Amino acid sequence: MIQAPKIFDALSRTNPINDRGFYRFTGAIFGDLFMTKANDNNFSEKFMKPKSTSTPIIRLKPGREKSVHRRHPWVFSGAVESEVDANQPGQTVRVESSSGKFLGFAAWSPKSQIRLRFWSFNEQDQIDENFIYFRLKKALTCRSPSNLASNAKRLVHGEADGLPGLIVDQYNQVLVLQILSVGVEYWKEILIRQLVDLTGLGCVYERSDADVRRLEGLEKKCGLIFGKLPSNLVIQEHGLEYSIDVENGQKTGFYLDQRANRAKIQEISTNKEILNCFCYTGGFTLNALRGGAKFVTSIDSSEQALQMAKLNVKTNGLPQEKTEWIAADVFKSLRKFRDQGRNFDLIILDPPKFAPTKQNVEKASRAYKDINLLAMKLLNAGGLLASFSCSSAINPELFKKILASSAEDAGQDFSILDTFSADQDHPQLLSFPEGDYLKGLLLQKLY
Ligand code: SAH
Repeated sequence: MIQAPKIFDALSRTNPINDRGFYRFTGAIFGDLFMTKANDNNFSEKFMKPKSTSTPIIRLKPGREKSVHRRHPWVFSGAVESEVDANQPGQTVRVESSSGKFLGFAAWSPKSQIRLRFWSFNEQDQIDENFIYFRLKKALTCRSPSNLASNAKRLVHGEADGLPGLIVDQYNQVLVLQILSVGVEYWKEILIRQLVDLTGLGCVYERSDADVRRLEGLEKKCGLIFGKLPSNLVIQEHGLEYSIDVENGQKTGFYLDQRANRAKIQEISTNKEILNCFCYTGGFTLNALRGGAKFVTSIDSSEQALQMAKLNVKTNGLPQEKTEWIAADVFKSLRKFRDQGRNFDLIILDPPKFAPTKQNVEKASRAYKDINLLAMKLLNAGGLLASFSCSSAINPELFKKILASSAEDAGQDFSILDTFSADQDHPQLLSFPEGDYLKGLLLQKLY
């Protein structure tokens, strides 16, 4: 059993269920990992505390409970009738319909448009540290044993794991935590202790610097929570090694969601002249080289990312002479290539999120259309375009329409050879279409 780190000693001592008791308890009931409190009589008798009468109640406006019945995990501020008498942001509230019918337990976020994020739709549940432990344990179990061909994976993917606003990525021996909601912030100390217990890993780093925290009234927060970061953190993915900078890299350090798609690019790169736009630390470039590409040109606006990408090519023993690196704006570079008459057999477009919210959809659509139109024109006949969007506000149908519109303007015909999505450690909740953020198409230019 892993020892809880020192910083949590005080916490354990003041907690009504101390560490030892907690471990004994979890050990006893995890025979069936998918057992819920509701259907485990033994659990209910022994451990359920009487329902607290002090859980604040929030009522929704008439007719606004429909999305909750569909098990959508959010309620927006406009649907809330009565504000709550809870005094702490992130506190658990009991959500009721306008007629007082129980709907669920949710985290209350007074500053956010997303006023409520559901923990549970089950009235028997009690949102306490055991509940959180169950959710974490379940998330980890779903990813283990893993057939991801990597020692880096997303362990917790927010809403899809019943933990709205929590991201946990594992990079070899390091856990990187990202908290995006005040509801998760409320449980932070407990969550960290439980994560360490469940994973046995000795280093946790926080990268809670996403802009959306502002909407929750939270400051950005980054830093080592405990343990020591290795001087050179390296992960393996599909037989390739990547250096990871969890302190200064983008997101939590790497785009784990593209893992399976990088492998697909490896399969289709043989003998091709390739352009990798928005290359970051070279994920698609490395795979293209490993797949036998003739030459790979990679573009990114971040010099730092390009340095790391070059290092990754070198440490993997891949042919550096078959690479060209351009630190520039992709929009400008594509126009330059057009003017120079350059052509490619495979172009990868994996831009950052152009539409962070629904308000940006129109502008973002124009940007997606622009780069895709330019790329389509740079392709040789029979050439391939792997085009992605990671904006959840751009749904797969709209993305397809945008690409169709680019093809129309290019005056060219394309067939769809494949579709892309985030890898399986980034699951989607069926009731939460907003979670379907990464989509892509592999197109082939016909004539
Ligand atoms: N394909 C990558 C992830 C790409 S993330 C992988 O598999 O790892 C998006 C990248 O786009 C980031 O590295 C960011 O630095 C870069 N970027 C953002 N705007 C850009 C622009 N206008 N021109 C070039 N690169 C840009």
